[in-house]
Amino acid sequence: MSLINEYSNHEIKAFDKDHVWHHLTPGSAADNGLPVFVKGQGLDLWDIDGNQYLDASAGGVWVTNTGYGRKEIVDAISEQLLELNFFASAMGNKPAAVFANHLIDKMPGMNRVFYSSSGSEANEKAFKMVRQISHKKYAGKKSKILYRERDYHGTTIAALSATGQSQRRDQFGPFVPDFVEFPHCFEYRSQFEDSTDYGLKAAKLMEDVILQEGPDTVGAVIIEPITAGGGIITPPEGYLKAVEQICKKHNVLLILDEVVCGLGRTGKWFGYQHYDIQPDIVTMAKGVASGYAAISCTVTTEAVYKDLQESDNTDKLGYFRDISTYGGCLAGPAAAIANMNIIEKENLIDNSAKMGEILLQGLAVLKSKYPIIGDVRGKGLLVGIELVTDQTSKQPVDESVAIRIFAKCKQAGLLIGRTNRSFAEFNNILNMSPALCVTEAQIQQILTTLDQAFADLTVDLT
Ligand code: PLP
Repeated sequence: MSLINEYSNHEIKAFDKDHVWHHLTPGSAADNGLPVFVKGQGLDLWDIDGNQYLDASAGGVWVTNTGYGRKEIVDAISEQLLELNFFASAMGNKPAAVFANHLIDKMPGMNRVFYSSSGSEANEKAFKMVRQISHKKYAGKKSKILYRERDYHGTTIAALSATGQSQRRDQFGPFVPDFVEFPHCFEYRSQFEDSTDYGLKAAKLMEDVILQEGPDTVGAVIIEPITAGGGIITPPEGYLKAVEQICKKHNVLLILDEVVCGLGRTGKWFGYQHYDIQPDIVTMAKGVASGYAAISCTVTTEAVYKDLQESDNTDKLGYFRDISTYGGCLAGPAAAIANMNIIEKENLIDNSAKMGEILLQGLAVLKSKYPIIGDVRGKGLLVGIELVTDQTSKQPVDESVAIRIFAKCKQAGLLIGRTNRSFAEFNNILNMSPALCVTEAQIQQILTTLDQAFADLTVDLT
């Protein structure tokens, strides 16, 4: 801390501008200088110039579920690190054991936790489990992994090979073989003329791809229970249940990517728990420790774990031969235990469901007021607004419109999220995902600021 404070604000802004390579940001934007944040408390955030913001984006990418400035989490980390900071996860340690036990308690049917340090990595572990099971049980034949159009599973080459967003993949090929895309499930932009039973029809599109590829070659399907970066898309009635049944029918493992939805974001511990389904593998990261430490988990059933143990004396290398160095850093599970304790103590799961409902209702009122809002959707505190030229044609607005709303909110001290900025087909969607401890007054502040931003935009456009 003291070392950082040896520099003036002016110097720090210059270091940032000259040397930090900002994620997902074109150099041209960074050249003008970006806000440099210095302090957070609850949902409030301050930049180096003293500007205050209400953060309705949970740290920009759905991370800070329990909010900023949580001393209990920081104390838990520092106590743990003084006691013991690291030992490779090939051996045991106290916080990893305790957090695994707490987590499994929230996930009936699941039993094993494999630790690593990012969402992409958690998904990579899941893919490697599927590939190794294919070798151990199916002579390497059941190796294909199906992923869905519009879903995102991470930034590494295999995770990107499983990502259904062409613009994220653009210029990064060639990709890993045996990842196969199936059509999206997005009722607002239905691919069917008749959308009755939309969920069942969309699930059938997935089954068609399994049949086309050959069920004996398909090892797993990966899905975001609620698509986040691809446009905050909630699954329609019956969809995920049908997906689960199709997977069972064809002996295909179901991997659920809960990297965004996990740990209370949607008003339940996990997004999939709204839909009465039982996955085989669940991955999670962002909300696990709310950004206080880097931790991710690949959680499996006991059956998946058993499939990856040496089955006989001839398969000495047959156990899951995988590791993540920072899966052995004790800051992660220590933070995660304290984070989970706050969620329970402050009833943040219920608060997420309740505040999310108030936010969605308020946004529905804005939709009836502003024809540019085509759809409002979400679950709990994972909420999005899709902007269109008019509500009948549903033609997406130009990206500049979403940028203007974002900028007007920022000017008024509110940070919201822009879903997959600059990617056509996604860049007309704004999202709101405040920390789960958001109050009703803060929800009203979000709504009032958005109302004013849309009113100003309407004036600008006429
Ligand atoms: N899965 C989903 C659904 C995500 O939204 C993300 C990141 O935004 C990831 C995986 C990748 O997580 P990470 O950036 O921690 O690797």
